[in-house]
Amino acid sequence: MSDTIFGKIIRGEIPVDLVYEDDLTLAFKDINPQAPIHILVIPKKPISKLDEATIEDQALLGHLLLSVKKVAQQVGLSNGYRVVCNNGVDGGQTVDHLHFHILGDRLMSWPPG
Ligand code: AMP
Repeated sequence: MSDTIFGKIIRGEIPVDLVYEDDLTLAFKDINPQAPIHILVIPKKPISKLDEATIEDQALLGHLLLSVKKVAQQVGLSNGYRVVCNNGVDGGQTVDHLHFHILGDRLMSWPPG
């Protein structure tokens, strides 16, 4: 997979507002927030999108979702939140590195745009 802005963030080449880090995961504030709390949770492993994940990534994907939950608790989203994973062109994905959006601190509407 080719390098992305998230690859640069993982290597520390671009500063972010870091919220959480462990050996497999980074979480940082979205630069263009769509809610009062908008955090991105990404794997350090370069996987371009959910469609590119394989059975080898099964444990990592579970770890990422549990990291989403941990981060949401850490920032106090006790009343709920939305988790979004845009996949590919029609999914509206703009950065080709797998990531989960955590959106919260406001009531979300449905359907999404
Ligand atoms: P997506 O459209 O699902 O691919 O989401 C990519 C997200 O990355 C968007 O919400 C952008 O605002 C966010 N983003 C892009 N560059 C940065 C950056 N340098 N720091 C934080 N968030 C970023």
